Amino acid sequence: MDIDWRRNNTLTNFFYSCLPCELESQVEIENFLEKKLQKVLGIKSEKLEESIKKGNTKFYFSMGVPTLLFKKETGKLESGTVVYLSDEIEVIRGFPKIKRTLLLYPAIINYFKDSVAVEEKMNGYNVRIASIKTSKIFLKGSDGENHSSHENFEIKKNPMKIVALTRGGYVCPFTTKKAQELLNLDEFFSDHPDLVICGEMVGTHNPYVSQYYPEIGKLGFRVFDIRHKISNQPLSIENKRNMLKKYNLPPVRLFGVFKVKEAADQIMRIIKEIGSDEREGLVMKHPSMTISPLKYTSSQAHDREIKYAFNFPFDFGRAFFFSRVIREGFQAYEMDESSEELENRSKRLGKSIILPMLEIIKHIKEGEPAVEDSIIEVDTLEEAEEFVRHLHNLGVSTMLLKYEDGNAVIRRIHNATTDKINNYIKGGLY
Ligand code: ATP
Ligand code: MG
Repeated sequence: MDIDWRRNNTLTNFFYSCLPCELESQVEIENFLEKKLQKVLGIKSEKLEESIKKGNTKFYFSMGVPTLLFKKETGKLESGTVVYLSDEIEVIRGFPKIKRTLLLYPAIINYFKDSVAVEEKMNGYNVRIASIKTSKIFLKGSDGENHSSHENFEIKKNPMKIVALTRGGYVCPFTTKKAQELLNLDEFFSDHPDLVICGEMVGTHNPYVSQYYPEIGKLGFRVFDIRHKISNQPLSIENKRNMLKKYNLPPVRLFGVFKVKEAADQIMRIIKEIGSDEREGLVMKHPSMTISPLKYTSSQAHDREIKYAFNFPFDFGRAFFFSRVIREGFQAYEMDESSEELENRSKRLGKSIILPMLEIIKHIKEGEPAVEDSIIEVDTLEEAEEFVRHLHNLGVSTMLLKYEDGNAVIRRIHNATTDKINNYIKGGLY
């Protein structure tokens, strides 16, 4: 039996079609939305319905389970929140946005009040790992009669499934497989099915954000938060670290817990140090995790992102460039640099803008498109193809360029950059 969600995109009416008897019947799950979902999510049913109608909330199937995905923030639910309508409702909340501070002083003192834990901010992609129930509702027998009665449904129990969701809330097949290879998750989730592991997938061999870390190499995972499923409540820094230790899961680096008065100086010292190792930055968290964290990044990270984005200038919004330049301005101000240091910072920034742009213009002049290749390790060609299909479904313009001996080369095509530069080269006006 399938639920034909295309027939009706509301939640009060599911259309069940029973294939064996070729009979379709509409089942009204009375008060389903009103009572259960509203209670679990804390969101008014009218608001949910409206969000679905506008396309901000998507209703589809994931692993055979009817699923709601919040593509935009809805009420208190973060974008990326997923609700699995299995025999029990499972809610995996979206990972909250982390605000940035441009200056360390006096923001840290004002914001954190007493003390602050300083963690490394790893540059990879955000992953939420959870164990979910995938039990489904099935029709009993196939007599084709009286389908709208509840007695005719039975629940088919399926085992728990461990899945890895990327930021938007989709289960990523690549990440799901790798997470289970890299981490020992079974024990953790069998003890704590109500928790979500939030972390960063990092390394050179991934399809989303590639950065080399000496301690990671091709692919690795670092946990930065453990959160409760429905409430999104994070564990305190201490509880999180103890739990990760107990289950032998790898945490992000903790530089220390500082009194707010000394924190700005310490962070300034640490950011210079990790910046010179080409590492991204820091996330500052209140030890209790009752205040939302703040992020702060190194000059080298700003440069690297600007450089990367100017390879594909028309595929990135203007805000992307502006915000990184602003970060540099405020950091230069706060670090009170010597004229030599300032000269260096300015030169680096200028080079990161002009040089990649020059490269890409020349490249496109040669008749080549703007592309970005990444290598991932997969076991079979089918796996590589499945992953590219997954990216297509997300609307990402990609192709599988090559598969050989467990290495797949995934090519992402930056169409706006290719088309616009081509146009200007041919005399098009800006
Ligand atoms: P945001 O997450 O604030 O919406 P964004 O998507 O642009 O912004 P970043 O600027 O990279 O992301 O910063 C936040 C991200 O940093 C988190 O979503 C998380 O994936 C990542 N991150 C890396 N290390 C940590 C850490 N120690 N604690 C929290 N997040 C971390
Ligand atoms: Mg990031």
